Amino acid sequence: MSAELLLEETLIKRSQQKRRTSPLNYKERLFVLTKNRLAYYDGKAEKKFRRGSIELSRIRCAEIVKNVGGIIPCQNKYPFQVVYDTNTLYVFAPSHDSRSLWVRSLKEEIKDNPVISAKFHPQLWQEGAWLCCRQAEKQAPGCEEYNLFGDISRKPLPPIPGEVCNERQRRPPPPVPQPADAADDDDDDDDDDDDGEEEEEVVVALYDFQGTEPHDLSLVKGAEYVILDKSDVNWYKARNKYSEEGYIPSNYVTEKKSGNLQQFVWYSKQVNRNKAEELLRKEDKEGAFIVRDSSTPGTYTVSLYAKSAAGEGCPVIKHYHIKTKGSPPQFYLAEKHLFSSIPELIEYHKHNAAGLVARLRYPVGKHDKSAPSTAGFSYEKWEIDPSELTFMKELGSGQFGLVRLGKWRAQHRVAIKAIREGAMYEEDFIEEAKVMMRLSHPKLVQLYGVCSQQKPIYIVTEFMENGCLLDFLRQRRGSFGPGSLLSICLDVSEGMEHLEANGFIHRDLAARNCLVNDSLVVKVSDFGMARYVLDDQYTSSSGAKFPVKWSPPEVFNFCRYSSKSDVWSFGVLMWEVFTEGRMPFEQSQNHEVVTLVTQGHRLYRPKMATHAIYDIMQISWHERPEERPSFSQLCLMIYDALEGDAPPPN
Ligand code: ADP
Repeated sequence: MSAELLLEETLIKRSQQKRRTSPLNYKERLFVLTKNRLAYYDGKAEKKFRRGSIELSRIRCAEIVKNVGGIIPCQNKYPFQVVYDTNTLYVFAPSHDSRSLWVRSLKEEIKDNPVISAKFHPQLWQEGAWLCCRQAEKQAPGCEEYNLFGDISRKPLPPIPGEVCNERQRRPPPPVPQPADAADDDDDDDDDDDDGEEEEEVVVALYDFQGTEPHDLSLVKGAEYVILDKSDVNWYKARNKYSEEGYIPSNYVTEKKSGNLQQFVWYSKQVNRNKAEELLRKEDKEGAFIVRDSSTPGTYTVSLYAKSAAGEGCPVIKHYHIKTKGSPPQFYLAEKHLFSSIPELIEYHKHNAAGLVARLRYPVGKHDKSAPSTAGFSYEKWEIDPSELTFMKELGSGQFGLVRLGKWRAQHRVAIKAIREGAMYEEDFIEEAKVMMRLSHPKLVQLYGVCSQQKPIYIVTEFMENGCLLDFLRQRRGSFGPGSLLSICLDVSEGMEHLEANGFIHRDLAARNCLVNDSLVVKVSDFGMARYVLDDQYTSSSGAKFPVKWSPPEVFNFCRYSSKSDVWSFGVLMWEVFTEGRMPFEQSQNHEVVTLVTQGHRLYRPKMATHAIYDIMQISWHERPEERPSFSQLCLMIYDALEGDAPPPN
């Protein structure tokens, strides 16, 4: 496993995470450069002493730091910098020659990297500003051109005061007095920790994960792991307590940090008022509760179920906002009982109702929640071996062919779409599939991979037990309240918000392209697939299968797709939801719809939709795309509509 060793030397590094400039932030570390990474260790170059590491492919700039003068509070006076992702690591070498060697070696190793900085900051980030250009924004663009091939360390530098002789270099850095009002020097808002090993990010597993490939690391729910590499947003490299390393799905872990509620079973991030009530009613237990995000970002609500509240004949659900007071903030539900953290507050009210309708007896939510989908079955795996698939029942058929339920490695239920010959631009799709697999979100149907080495090719996705949303709405007509219809819209807008944030356009958003799982979560499916359809009737705006009724004028006139054209389609999808699956413009042909919409006509207000909800549809159908809201704005509007007690429909 170990890659070729290039350099090894004890240097001093400045902490990236500490808030204050302090001698404690300058640590002696054994730096090791190999062909793959720059790693640093506390003493020995062994895994368990490793305190951090940077993959060379992530480094954008390695360069000396100029004009440091007398501001270095450690005995190594020859700093250099390693810029990777959006971070800068400062390392202090004991001599001019040592620094030159490190910088030259790093430059040599990164010269073929895909991203090299065009500009950089030649001086330090210190006390909230770049010393070179005085910009106070850590991410401010560099102020000097970066020359990967030049070596600025050869240029004469101003004399460095306080240079020390070599025998002292192996000793720990002497403490240097600090100004009492030293300002924050770093941007990270991680908590300070006194042992100084802040480079290690520790996470807690929220679910079990059984690795499927040798390079994976299995997870045990509740156990802790050290994160080694986050360069793939979906698959982090991690280490367990036995020093085993491998890739883990990033959505299966949460940071272990005070203030992070995700690690508690009683906290459910993405549960709105309506869903909370649904979950509590389903559980039907005295004192069942959920802590969830309130509609105001950064605040929380406790939703509590009492079967036999005094004076009430039937079960009641109360929603208590967790309020704060003072600075630092103290949290409370009942004004007399203040706590310095939310977990302490919950702990107290588990034992004392103290004015609440019941004690918090029974946390509902996570413990029975099944694990979310992973972005593919393993890190960098998109090709699926068809011999590992078994086929079960038929689920339906669509534009591309037959869809069947199946199992991967006899264990994971999946939907398998067999692509009919001549139905798809297969090569283009297979290339794009790698991008699509990285789109991973609880409200998007996950693409797990493809079998591209055979005919027909297969597309393997997450299985959604309740099938397509349009059929789901039609089959259950009359059973939906406005809250559950709005909840469906919220799910879809959340999935679409993720596509929008990633610059990905759906192009065919409609109820028929959303699916429903066994927990009644609605997810967006078939995103971007319209580009690979080989059928003029579907792709030409005058074709019989073109989704004119879901398209804004700029699409049916000029095929101008954007996230804002998706917003228009979303408005039509909301209309489908609130009519429980009716066909938009039922009485009109496609060409008539073009005329109607061009003249300014829009779909009518469905009976189940309040005026506030119809307003959301109408702004999505603004003629000018730039006047339509974004999906993140739509999410907020729908969330607000859900949180408020919706007036009865008229
Ligand atoms: P196409 O993309 O070829 O038009 P669809 O994605 O519309 O095909 O799938 C056709 C039908 O198959 C859907 O209407 C749905 O009933 C079923 N189906 C498709 N994908 C899934 C899935 N992931 N889980 C469950 N059923 C599915």
